[in-house]
Amino acid sequence: MSLRWKIFSVYFVILIVSLASTGIYLFNNIYESYLNNERVTNLTQANMIANLVSNFIGVSSYLIEPTIVDYSKQINSRVLFTDVNGKVVVDSAGNGELEGKDINSYSDVRAALKGSGSTSIHYISGSGWTMYAAVPVTAKNDIVGSILLSTSIDDVMGFLNTIKMQMIYTFTAIGSIVSILSLIVADFITKPLKRLTDATKVISEGKFDYKVNIKGSDEIGKLAESFNEMGTKLMKIDDERKRFVSDASHELKTPLAAIKALVEPLISNENIDISLYKEFLRDINDEVDRMTRLVNELLVLARMDKINSIKNKTENISEIAYNVIENLEAIAKNKGVSLVFDSDEKIFADVDADRFYRMIYNVVENGIKYTPEGGSVTLKLSCDDKNVYIKIADTGIGISQETLPKVFERFSRGDTARSQKTGGFGLGLAIVKEIVDLHKGHIDVKSTVGKGTEFDITIPVKNI
Ligand code: ADP
Repeated sequence: MSLRWKIFSVYFVILIVSLASTGIYLFNNIYESYLNNERVTNLTQANMIANLVSNFIGVSSYLIEPTIVDYSKQINSRVLFTDVNGKVVVDSAGNGELEGKDINSYSDVRAALKGSGSTSIHYISGSGWTMYAAVPVTAKNDIVGSILLSTSIDDVMGFLNTIKMQMIYTFTAIGSIVSILSLIVADFITKPLKRLTDATKVISEGKFDYKVNIKGSDEIGKLAESFNEMGTKLMKIDDERKRFVSDASHELKTPLAAIKALVEPLISNENIDISLYKEFLRDINDEVDRMTRLVNELLVLARMDKINSIKNKTENISEIAYNVIENLEAIAKNKGVSLVFDSDEKIFADVDADRFYRMIYNVVENGIKYTPEGGSVTLKLSCDDKNVYIKIADTGIGISQETLPKVFERFSRGDTARSQKTGGFGLGLAIVKEIVDLHKGHIDVKSTVGKGTEFDITIPVKNI
């Protein structure tokens, strides 16, 4: 069932239940109050007759019948006077049909003869709705008989029936109007959701720039806003992915073209000197190494995208950093660059050891790569309760202000010619940035051309 119909059904059920219970309650109250009124009136009349009759008993009994008949005409009710056994003594009806008959079977008469007033309502075919009201007749504190009043309440019942029908019509009209309104409301609520569902389909087809036009500060408005933001982010990710694939293919094409250029003359020229062969093969070997390095770095980046694979453990990061220095020592020495390591012996943090190693390795290796002979690269570690701070500073060539904001982008190289020479692909710092992000850390770079570069990395100590 669609959400629209669910909302409508809930509204509808609540509506029917509340209207029906209100209607029944109201009608019962009106019904009871009208009939109570009738009961009181009839009992009062019956009591008045009973008083008159009791005054006549034993004194002027012959006045009983004419008084009852007269009174019955005045109040437009049939009046029966029974003796203490329930036998009718006087029946005000023209033919006096019940006179001499025992009506002790009438519950109201029975109750009256026991001393209490009683009323009941009956539907009598031919006469319609009738109310019986019976009261005792007493003489010298003894019950000597009863008065039974039989009054038509057809008009009251008819009036109550009219009220009932009016209430049914009114409540049905209210119910129908509210049902239509609830359908409109359900439509109003679900329409934006339908538009969002349609938009999801459009986005899933790859049209990330599609925007849903739903305004408002309610939950659905906010959902639409987040949805549009998601589209923008997806578009950015998609653009980055496309750029990455095109850059990666371009980078792979370069060494392949170089290898082809080296292999072709070897195939076509027959009399080539063996030393030239060897030289060409060495060049081909270099290009293959370069390609292997590129593929490895691309693999590292691809794995990095699987964020869930991060395996943080509490590690002695000063030890990991020291391992980096040890492993790069030889390269630095070859270049005539000195490596300085400054750290407490034991600094612990929750990190993925392999990735943390690579993060420091890449930055320090860059430092060595871009620092001329005689310069230095310093790796300094410190910490407080919350973070560890890693500073990697070199006295190298520096990075220009135009390149600086882009150094963490994939395939970004400060000076292509220079990087080609030094063998970089512009992926090293992109990997570093990804690792810092995976550790919920932060990286900053400051640099002055000709003087040197400083990278500042902050990683939270607790990160599991
Ligand atoms: P690459 O493999 O080209 O070194 P990176 O992502 O590691 O790629 O670096 C991107 C660019 O940033 C480099 O090409 C270089 O121009 C510049 N760079 C990075 N580190 C340094 C540094 N310590 N000194 C000067 N330039 C640097």
